[in-house]
Order: sequence, then C-alpha cells, then structure tokens
Amino acid sequence: MKILIVNAGSSSQKSCFYEIVGDALPKHPPVPLWEAQIDWTHKQGLAEVKVKTASGAILKEELQSESRPKVLAHLLKTLWSGNTQVIEEPKAIDIVGHRVVHGGREYQQSTMINSEVKEAIASFAILAPDHNPANLEGIEVCEEILGTVPQVAVFDTAFHAQIPDAAAIYPGPYEWVEQGIRRYGFHGLSHQYCAERTAQILGRDLPSLRLITCHLGNGCSLAAIRNGRSVDTTMGFTPLEGLMMGSRSGSVDPGILIYLLRQYNYSADKLNELLNKESGLQGISGVSNDLRQILEAIASGNQRAQLALDIYIHRLRSGIGAMLTSLGGLDALIFTAGVGENVASIREAACTAFQFLGLKLDPEKNVPSPDDREITTSDSAVKVLVIHTQEDWAIARECWQLF
Ligand code: ADP
Repeated sequence: MKILIVNAGSSSQKSCFYEIVGDALPKHPPVPLWEAQIDWTHKQGLAEVKVKTASGAILKEELQSESRPKVLAHLLKTLWSGNTQVIEEPKAIDIVGHRVVHGGREYQQSTMINSEVKEAIASFAILAPDHNPANLEGIEVCEEILGTVPQVAVFDTAFHAQIPDAAAIYPGPYEWVEQGIRRYGFHGLSHQYCAERTAQILGRDLPSLRLITCHLGNGCSLAAIRNGRSVDTTMGFTPLEGLMMGSRSGSVDPGILIYLLRQYNYSADKLNELLNKESGLQGISGVSNDLRQILEAIASGNQRAQLALDIYIHRLRSGIGAMLTSLGGLDALIFTAGVGENVASIREAACTAFQFLGLKLDPEKNVPSPDDREITTSDSAVKVLVIHTQEDWAIARECWQLF
C-alpha cells in the first residue's frame, strides 16, 4: 500500500511517502521512500523546498512563495518526476493522509475527506487560524493534482475529544460552553503514538496503564492518559495554554492581558505576537527559542538564560503534578519531541521532583540514544521512557486502518 502524508503548517510544510508491503502493518515505522519539506519563512518572498529519497537523491530549490498551492503542487510532483522520482504516476498513490490540527467537537476519529468534511475543517479555522486554512490548502492541492485518490483527515484534537467536562470546561460564564470555548488539546497524534509505543515496549495492554506523556518540542504539552485515552492535557482552547514553550508563554494570569490592554492600549494583534512569538524561552532569555542555544548561553554565564531554564523546569514539574491528579497513580512518564528526546538534564530535572513516588532514574540509561527505551532502574515504581515521536507514521497507520 502506497501512502502519501501531507502535514501542512503555516510556516512549514512536511510530506512523506511510505510503501507498506504485505498484509500487516509493520511494528516499527519503516523509512519513508521520499521526504519533502517547504520552509515558507526562508526569505522574503521565497520558499525553500527540500526533497530527499531513501535511495539518496536530494533536491534543494528556492521558489517564489507568492502562490502557496503552486509551490506545494511543484513539491508533490517530485514524487513522480526528476531525480527524486519514486513512483511512475500519481495514480500509483493509494491514499493520502492529512494532518488536520482542529476537528472541533465533531471529529473524534480520522475521517475520509468529502465536501462536508472540508466545510467542517474550514469552519474550525476560526479556532485554529494559523493551521486549518493551511491544512485545507493541502487537501485542495492534492485533489487538483491527484484526482480521485482517496484522502483522509487525521485530527490532532481527536485523541483529547473524550476529556471529561470537569477538565475541559473553563470556569468562565456558561455562554462559553455554548460558544465552543473549551479545552480541545493538541499534539494528539504524538501523545497517542507515544502511549501505544510505551505499551509495546513495556509488554502491557495500553488500557491497563496510567501514563503522562511530555511532548517537549518548540510547542510543549502534557497529556494524562487512562484506558488508552487522554483524560487531561495542558494545551487548551488554543495551543497557547499550559507549559512554557520555545517562544510561547504558556499559561499566564489573564489579568496581565487586561492590564496591558488598559494601561498600554495594546491591540489583539500585538498581544498575539507577544504571547506566541516573543515569550517563553525566547522572551525570558533574549537569546533564542532553541534550547540548545539556551544551554550554551548558560554555560557561558548568561543569567537570563538560566532564569528561562529555571522557569521552564518549574512549569514542567507543576504540569506533571497537575496531570497526576487525573490518574490516581502513575505507571509511566514518557518524554518525546526535540527536547524530550535529546536533553537528559531536562528529563532528570523533571523526574527529581517525583522521587517521592518511588521513581528512580538510572543515570547510565538517561543518556543520548537513537532508540526508544526505558531509563529507570529495575526497582523504580514508575517507569520513565524516551520515545521518538512519529507523527507521520501515526497518520499512515490511520490511513491503513481506514483503507
Ligand atoms: P517542533 O515542535 O517544531 O516539531 P521539535 O520537536 O523538532 O519541534 O523540537 C524542537 C526543539 O527541540 C528545538 O527548538 C530545540 O530546542 C530542541 N532540540 C532538538 N534537538 C536538540 C538537542 N540535540 N539538544 C537540545 N535541544 C534540542
């Protein structure tokens, strides 16, 4: 089965192509035959397109970014043309899987795309203005150049759709509930994949496990998972709530926003920019949103970088503590995404706060490794795992199941 994955975002676009041979899904993600990326913010007016294939072919181009659909169509055509060709013709693709960030309350499962689903994705753009329009654009480009190849929408909110009302509803006026203002949660594909992979590594049934998954990338969120479903998460109505992130503030007192509106006449756009782009590690350190650069700055004595890291760790520990309350116990704590997979010192700092649960990290295992693994001692009451998240593969599995 030949599966094309399209993961269209506002500033970047990632695609890959899997071929699954045989009647069963492989246990481990196969290497994609073709991987492609567009960086929309590369240079003023120019997008950077990069393609590589499993056989080693590489393509790198700069294209006018004025028409995004044209650039995306150009990128997808490298699947069946030029030196990056891996299939004879577009018809060879069996199914296309799209990551769609917001599925509202209606879409709790992956769904074959038709005009009704497209309308729904468009209507949720009000809740995810940076993402859903880009997702829809990806769907429409595929329709145009691939014709009738079936397409599937896999929603990032779906895994959180059954969070109980007490955790999902904000204690504002009741009108908010009627207006759809509630916790939706994000990074669902990553949290779900990590939960399933944890059950596989521990040799346990997923429904029997109480898990907290920590997705720590540029965006950061936690999920509390019971019976294989998310029962609480730190991101909320938007991906701004919760943990401190690369350039997003995470949760702050909403009174600060009222103060800034009144005292400094800030506009909604200005607040949006401040909270999403000029806060978090970037805002506090003044150095970067990238943790690698924060760690370098700390090593050369930068106090603001140290403060940024201290806040990041404090918020991470508080968030894990909050997730614990929804589980009534903890079998495993899982770290994933750029920071979670690569930074042993952050994992250690987070875990130190939970030694009272009998959690014992093994320093010899908490070291860099390309493998998914457990990093606790054999007598640790709570297991800690590092899992390399595979969101594209999670979308491919959904396609496989629906085909
Ligand atoms: P995204 O949320 O954009 O998918 P990633 O999961 O790739 O992001 O995580 C990006 C972040 O991970 C970077 O900003 C960087 O801070 C961090 N990161 C990635 N690799 C490393 C590393 N080897 N050491 C420290 N931090 C890393």
